[in-house]
Amino acid sequence: MSIQVFGLAVSKGVAIGRAVLIASSRMDVAHYFVEEAQLDLEVDRLRRARDEVAGELQALQRDMPSDAPGELNALLDVHLMLLHDETMIAATKQWVRDRHYNAEWALSAQLEVLSRQFDEMEDEYLRERKADIEQVVERLLRALQRSAAGQTAAADRTVQHGFGGEEPLILVANDIAPADMLQFKRSVFAGFVTDVGGKTSHTAIVARSMDIPAVVGAREASRLIRQDDQVVIDGDAGVVIINPPPIVLEEYRFRQRQSELERARLHRLRNTPAVTLDGQRVELQANIEMPRDAQVATQAGAVGVGLFRTEFLFMNRDGHLPSEDEQFECYRSAVQDMQGLPMTIRTVDVGADKPLDRMSIHELRHEHVLNPALGLRAIRWSLSEPDMFLQQLRAILRATAYGKVRILVPMVGHLNEVRQTLAQIALAKRQLNDAGIPFTDAEVGVMVEIPATAIMIPLFAPHFDFLSIGTNDLIQYTLAIDRADEQVAHLYDPWHPAVLQLVAATIDCGRRLGKSVSVCGEMAGDPVFTEVLLAMGLRSFSMHPSRIAEVKQRVLRSDTRHLEQHLQAVLSDEHPEQAAARVFRAAR
Ligand code: PEP
Ligand code: MG
Repeated sequence: MSIQVFGLAVSKGVAIGRAVLIASSRMDVAHYFVEEAQLDLEVDRLRRARDEVAGELQALQRDMPSDAPGELNALLDVHLMLLHDETMIAATKQWVRDRHYNAEWALSAQLEVLSRQFDEMEDEYLRERKADIEQVVERLLRALQRSAAGQTAAADRTVQHGFGGEEPLILVANDIAPADMLQFKRSVFAGFVTDVGGKTSHTAIVARSMDIPAVVGAREASRLIRQDDQVVIDGDAGVVIINPPPIVLEEYRFRQRQSELERARLHRLRNTPAVTLDGQRVELQANIEMPRDAQVATQAGAVGVGLFRTEFLFMNRDGHLPSEDEQFECYRSAVQDMQGLPMTIRTVDVGADKPLDRMSIHELRHEHVLNPALGLRAIRWSLSEPDMFLQQLRAILRATAYGKVRILVPMVGHLNEVRQTLAQIALAKRQLNDAGIPFTDAEVGVMVEIPATAIMIPLFAPHFDFLSIGTNDLIQYTLAIDRADEQVAHLYDPWHPAVLQLVAATIDCGRRLGKSVSVCGEMAGDPVFTEVLLAMGLRSFSMHPSRIAEVKQRVLRSDTRHLEQHLQAVLSDEHPEQAAARVFRAAR
């Protein structure tokens, strides 16, 4: 039976494929395809892992003290029985042979199938046996990781190959932490569906940067979708269709072909300068998450990087932060890849829905962090860890010797933070000078993403060379709506008059003070906002590389003289979205 699930449309397009359900706690399991010729070896790896775990369990039984409770022995018996159960190993092997999944992936896939079956059991005692299955799988996964082949696989996990004739795969999960999402960046998946998350949660942002269809906040999706179901993601409407009837499938295949043609057409604009009909030059820059994305940015026609979110370099490192040299190498390679175009490196913005360790927002909320979005994040965290901050500043400054580097400071809300930050930058420069390490000067910019900052531009701007408006957070903090919470996603409204007025005032004030102003939040990459932002006087946008062509098309068709005439009408309307659609359409 076909079912539809509704969520939030976060990354456009249509994806059709087989569902792969992954538990949030098993996101770090390697996912890759095994070549036909290697299948026997992979099955062997699985068999060896099973024998190893059986040995472990038998040894535990053997060494059990004589006064140990009898239940313990019985439990190990149950684990041994599960280990040899056909529904476990035989079915897992089937995933390897039929789908070419690596052993770890196959095991997790089968665990999902079995978990469902246990969840649906009437008998409470049997239902509770699910925990035993999970423990056995954990042991097997650990044994696989220990095997030499397992280590190669883990190291290779981002280098994923499809194999002939395989259907695309859709990742379905309750939640995916931003760092895990990033790991899937060059992976086998053609689309994503999650139960939780808001439109500008960092998980959604990374999904969008991958330019593959995604729906988040689809509440029940991971419960309703089963392993290997056929799934259609309609990334424009935010709908997921499970096991669609043939006629619906055909319609979506048609739409998929259409959007591929449209993409190819837009791609031709990549070397066209973004100039409006009235001759205004508009800078379209890129947002990136990893150094290797710099190349993607220039290939997409970006004239610079307006936002490098360096925090992704800091995540999932088991408490070991990247050293100054390691960071320097990352920044240097990204800067060199820009071939003279500017690279704006934002100092680390961890916290809120971007924790350092592999924790999803869901876990954060239920763990100990009371209000992560209002807590110790971004510049607040950097200033509280001066050694870490100085290391990063030195690493960024050292990269200035290799190209045009700008430093961007996130989440500044207080003039004290401005003074402390600038003092740390000055100290980092002195330290480099003393050590005789070369660097050149870098412009320093401030992110405007707290309403207090937007209101106080005349006080903040003189300290900085440029301003960058982070609309994702500015909306969250202006409207008091957690950007990562799907339950209030309907209230997260970029068209809210208060948001538009803050953005317009910041652009206007910044320009009058002679500072360049850019928008680097998701608004900049959404063509629905291109005209209103141009009307506000914005001439610098930063967005995911995949969004550049579409926004450029809007820019090329705009006449800012006409747009400006209508700005007040839009800003003062009770329904700015409708007003913008009406007046800007008439101006075209
Ligand atoms: C923003 O808040 O708009 C922004 C660009 O920063 P981030 O999304 O990384 O918080
Ligand atoms: Mg932000």
